[in-house]
Parts: sequence; C-alpha cells; structure tokens
Amino acid sequence: MPPADHQTPWRDAVLAVLGLFLPVACLGCGAADRALCPTCRADLVGRPGRVRLVAGVRLDAAWEYEGLVRTLLLELKLRGRVDVARPLGLRFGALVRQALAGAPPGTVLRRIPPSRSGARRRGFDPVVLLLARGGVRRPQRLVRVRAGPTAGGPGQKERTALERVAATVGTLRAVGVDGRDVVLVDDVVTTGVTMAEGVRAVRAAGGRVVRCVAVASVEE
Ligand SMILES: [Zn+2]
Repeated sequence: MPPADHQTPWRDAVLAVLGLFLPVACLGCGAADRALCPTCRADLVGRPGRVRLVAGVRLDAAWEYEGLVRTLLLELKLRGRVDVARPLGLRFGALVRQALAGAPPGTVLRRIPPSRSGARRRGFDPVVLLLARGGVRRPQRLVRVRAGPTAGGPGQKERTALERVAATVGTLRAVGVDGRDVVLVDDVVTTGVTMAEGVRAVRAAGGRVVRCVAVASVEE
C-alpha cells in the first residue's frame, strides 16, 4: 500500500508540540513552521509535471526544476535536509510505480549513479531516499566505469554540447539487463546527456529502456 499524502490530525498535533521546542522555518517561504508549511506544500502539489524525450525515450519528470522545487532539492542534496524527502518522494515514487505498472512484466528498475564527489560529500543517495519515501524499494545502480564531465567543474562552461556528449559516452555500464525492459531513474535531468548515456549503456548491454523518470527536469 503506497503512502498517501493525507495529513493526520495526531501528526499535526505532535509536530505542533515539537515545534515549541524545536522551532523550524519553512524552507519554501521562511514562515515559522515545520520544514514545509501548508501553503508551500499546496504550491508543490499544484505544480505540473513535465514530459520530454531523452535519446528517443519518454521522460516523465515530477516537476520542472525551478522555484520551490529547485530550492527543496538543493536543501536535500547540499544541506542534507532529509525532512523534505517525503513531499518530493511521494510524487516521484508514484511516477515510478506508474511507469513500472505500465511496462511489460519483468521490467526492472535501474538508477543513474550519483557522481563520485557528490556521493562522498553527502554520505546518502538522494534518489534512494526519495524512492523510499515514495514507496519504491532501492533500485540497482548502473555502474560508473569512469568519471564523466563534472557539472560546474573547471572548463565546463567552455565545453560545447558536443564535447559534453563525447566526454559522457562510455562512462556508465549496465549489468543484468540483457533481454530485459528497463525503467531508468535519476533526480534532476538538465541537458539529458547523462540520462542518454544511461539509455545507451542499457542498450549496449542488450536491454531496452521503456521509460525514464526524474524528480525534476530543467526546461530548455
Ligand atoms: Zn512556506
């Protein structure tokens, strides 16, 4: 049974009492409330999802990467604010479960691995945490064969799109997908180069990516 986003009165009461001792500001608007106040929570729920193509495969993103969604993801990933994982993970997890339910039987879930530096810095995997909050168990990762171009790293601005693609091809490898259908997941899709590399890796290993799912997509 997937978790629902309903507010339970007892939970509100407990949080209200806890708030007396542990004052928290809403990460969305700064109001003195829990990590996400009811207004910002409603804002999040009201924002539409996004659909785009990556390497010829449909990508479903739970949100566009902007405003409140961008703020919450950065708080989670850069400052370890795991208390925002639930509101983000509920919709992300629902999309992943939907993709799996609509895929052929035996379809497997694979995730794009986090960059080595990001994983070291954080000590937790945001996608795994978000999926857990959304009722999806930990998926197997694609294997990082070598480091790709670092987002925001030195020289990144000067790289052309083509150079970025060339530097990313061959960085990932898929295991155990031969003859299988695959749903690929990641947290944020920007240029789509990394997700496309995931699709390539699955195909090279004899699999077929039937859907990509992300928490957020940067619109070009
Ligand atoms: Zn707020």
